[in-house]
Amino acid sequence: MNHNKIFFGARLHLAGWYAGVMGIILTLSGVGIYQVMAHAHWQAVDRELESVAGTLHDSLEPLLQQSDRIDPSVQQILPNLCVIGEQCDRESSTRHILGAIQQDSFYALFLTRSGTLIATVGKPPLGIVPQIGQEAWQTIEDREGNRYHQISLLLKDNSGKSWGYLQVGRSLADYDHHLEQSKLILIVSLPIAFLIVSIASWCLAGMAMRPVYASYSQIQQFTADAAHELRTPLAAIRATVESVLNSDSLSELESRDVLQTINRQTIRLSQLVQDLLLLSRIDLQLLSLQKKSCCLNEIASDLVEEVAALAIQAEIELNFKVISDSPLYVTGNEDQLYRLMLNILINAIYYTPEQGKVEVSLNRLDHYAIIQIQDTGIGIDSIDLPCIFDRFYRVNSDRSRKKGGSGLGLAISMAIAKVHNGNIQVQSELGQGSTFTIRLPLAS
Ligand code: ADP
Repeated sequence: MNHNKIFFGARLHLAGWYAGVMGIILTLSGVGIYQVMAHAHWQAVDRELESVAGTLHDSLEPLLQQSDRIDPSVQQILPNLCVIGEQCDRESSTRHILGAIQQDSFYALFLTRSGTLIATVGKPPLGIVPQIGQEAWQTIEDREGNRYHQISLLLKDNSGKSWGYLQVGRSLADYDHHLEQSKLILIVSLPIAFLIVSIASWCLAGMAMRPVYASYSQIQQFTADAAHELRTPLAAIRATVESVLNSDSLSELESRDVLQTINRQTIRLSQLVQDLLLLSRIDLQLLSLQKKSCCLNEIASDLVEEVAALAIQAEIELNFKVISDSPLYVTGNEDQLYRLMLNILINAIYYTPEQGKVEVSLNRLDHYAIIQIQDTGIGIDSIDLPCIFDRFYRVNSDRSRKKGGSGLGLAISMAIAKVHNGNIQVQSELGQGSTFTIRLPLAS
């Protein structure tokens, strides 16, 4: 297929489109998954902060007595609290009720109502002056580019008056690291996935085009064979006509001889054209439009009657046996069913030497009619058996040509059997004879 320019181009085109579309889908899916993942992760950060800040807020409020001032009782639940201007023990390892705030990534800031920082917990961002903004949620960045996410809550003292502000935040280092890693995986995996998709596209395009190429090759072979078959009688006619034109005078006997040669070749030509036409009509399924109930017993007995003279002439014993007790009916085209059996029976007579036997038998098996044409003829070599139903295939060209065959007889029979939902099987042994078994579904 790759040696054929048209098919190679078409395969490349198909694979390119397929890989392109798949590439776009993969990229969009990758970006989509990344966005969903980042959003889910961000929400988890928000929820965690909200929960820590809420717990801290609810635990502290009952302990606060005076605005803008940290009471000693606050230190009991936050042992690592560092009040600005006082000595702090940052390394305190005491566990307290708010375990989350003990984690390295979390911090809390206490601010006065005017926004002045008065105490910290954990490791707040370096070099950033805390501010109370309009927004409850803030994302900030320190001098080194580390990002932090924080929430600001208003604290009230135990008498219900506003005390100041609590800011709870966490470092976004692990979040950013996670997203960076996901981005890296996407950037590396997308080209790899695209490469795999491209290879798969090439293979799939090849698979999709294989049957098209097979039928294209078949048509090409068929055209070449048909042209070859047509050329032989045409060449014979031309040679005969040229020899007549080159001779000065012709006797009546010679003229008759020439005309007979031309007539013989013309008959062969028209037979070939008819066979080709019939095959193309079968291929186009035009025959299925003309189906009716046909009696195989009648067709077979007519056929045997018609070829009886040929059998006598060839000194062959021709027998007809009906094994089934009732007539066998199939739905189909009578002329074509006749032609199906005729081709096989003519072959059987032709390829059986004098004193041989040919038997036609009719039987029923389950829902099928079985027509067997058995001969004691020359038989077919096992190498040729799988090919004898191919168009223009001849085991022995010279012998077949003398018979007037073009190698289309069995191909036509098989095509007719297939159109009638049946098939033909053959068993043969060289020098012993052949048995052709036609199976056709019976009319319901
Ligand atoms: P043709 O019309 O040239 O005989 P067919 O398609 O009818 O072509 O048959 C194909 C080939 O099968 C023939 O060339 C012949 O060699 C072989 N063949 C068919 N029927 C028989 C048979 N009954 N015995 C031996 N050879 C056969």
